[in-house]
Amino acid sequence: METDTLVRGLQQAVGDAKVRHAHADLLCYSYDSSLESQMHQWLPQAVVIPRSIDDVVSAVRFAAQHGVPITPRGAATGQTAGCVAPRGGIIIDMSQMNHILELDADDLQVIIEPGVVHANLNEFLAKKKLLFPPDPGSSKMCTVGGMVANNSRGMRAVKYGSTGDYVLGIKLVMADGQLITTGSMSSRAVQSSSGIDLTKLFVGSEGMLGVFVQLRLKVIPAPQTRGLVLAVFDRLEDSGQSVLEVFRAGILPSAIEILDASAIKAVNIYRPSMDLPEADAILLYEVDGNPESVKYDGQRIAEIVRPLARTVEWSDEKQRVNALWEARSLVGAASGQVVPGAARVYAGEDISVPIARVPETLRAIRNIGEKHNIVLVTYGHVGSGNMHTAPVIHVNDADQVRRVGLVADEIHHLALKIGGTVTGEHGVGVTRIPYMREEHGPALDVMWKIKQALDPQNIMNPGKTFSPEEFK
Ligand SMILES: Cc1cc2nc3c(=O)[nH]c(=O)nc-3n(C[C@H](O)[C@H](O)[C@H](O)COP(=O)(O)OP(=O)(O)OC[C@H]3O[C@@H](n4cnc5c(N)ncnc54)[C@H](O)[C@@H]3O)c2cc1C
Repeated sequence: METDTLVRGLQQAVGDAKVRHAHADLLCYSYDSSLESQMHQWLPQAVVIPRSIDDVVSAVRFAAQHGVPITPRGAATGQTAGCVAPRGGIIIDMSQMNHILELDADDLQVIIEPGVVHANLNEFLAKKKLLFPPDPGSSKMCTVGGMVANNSRGMRAVKYGSTGDYVLGIKLVMADGQLITTGSMSSRAVQSSSGIDLTKLFVGSEGMLGVFVQLRLKVIPAPQTRGLVLAVFDRLEDSGQSVLEVFRAGILPSAIEILDASAIKAVNIYRPSMDLPEADAILLYEVDGNPESVKYDGQRIAEIVRPLARTVEWSDEKQRVNALWEARSLVGAASGQVVPGAARVYAGEDISVPIARVPETLRAIRNIGEKHNIVLVTYGHVGSGNMHTAPVIHVNDADQVRRVGLVADEIHHLALKIGGTVTGEHGVGVTRIPYMREEHGPALDVMWKIKQALDPQNIMNPGKTFSPEEFK
């Protein structure tokens, strides 16, 4: 559709003030956090910034009538080019539908608009001693709608699971403009076996099946306190073994994070005052709950880990716990500093492997980096087998970008070879399309049938998950 006609149609549908079409505005919508989106300039033709459900319905109806692609967008912290528009059309920027609509504390649920930023939701809930447990590292930026669309996780997935585990119902606008509510239209129940579970279908659908306009989320009483065990290992294998031993002892930590040698080095370069010991790995075990159980579990973990580690420290004092956590919280920012003048890019950054195979995966990732002469910093949620690899490159160096492509490709194949998945929490978007057939086999065709049934014109976030060459 001609851009002028599209813009005029959208302005009539939702009002001029909610439509952006200036080139400078469109540029801002041409990227997310992925390297992939930096390598292209995928501009939408127009952006709609809705303020209400009616706005979304009107924009989607208009797009459906004219067969125009629609890409929902939250805060663009995604790392797979999921919220950019390779096929042009309309981006629906949900960031201004950001209100917490109702807290039903007695029934342990909250109803929100999808543009609410994750950290704002938990700040609000904390005042009522409640918690929405999924906790991505992008908490202060990402929207909860984006989290539901990607089925995001975070450090505490080992104990609390995924975003999807806390979604009770979704109000969404389907590809034809129809508004539906999953999880029963007016239910406040926290469980249901009624009908095919559509909520689960839409969680993780990456904007390809509809635009979320309201979310009903389960919340839990916030744990009273947290404790932390920090263990330093001379051998990666021993760090992996310690995780298995802790689970075998019947303890479920709220987080188990790993910094390998590259991540330790990165933190020390970035913040020399941290002075982390040189080691093959540092593990952080977090436990949460009431003070007595935290002390018991924390001390037990320290005992279990001690024979395998060089040093072990345990604390349940708030200040010390925060200080110990600092190394982990710095590593994302620190990784970009390992090579002067270079930047950390997101590519091949999110594989998940069987927990017992984390050490060999980390070694294999190191080898892949060395083979292609690319500096990699690796850390991750070891308790759930999720590895974050940070390539550090000069983005204007075309050869380095090419070699990062090879590194990411090998990392993705490595994950599949050893019984893992190409993405543990960030999703598929554009970047992981090439691995979908190998990972899912005939199940990918079933996903496509669902997509076709709900979006026969393929206007909802086209060009994602399904290879455009294979699925036409
Ligand atoms: C520094 C950093 C740390 C991160 N740490 C983590 C982490 O620990 N765990 C983790 O899981 N992820 C992490 N991420 C990835 C990212 O933050 C998450 O995937 C996040 O949930 C995306 O939210 P967003 O609002 O930015 O979504 P966007 O990037 O804007 O969009 C992501 C996808 O959701 C779709 N979408 C967005 N809103 C809607 C809606 N209302 N309706 C339908 N579809 C929609 C988009 O079309 C797109 O496919 C991190 C990213 C960064 C930059």
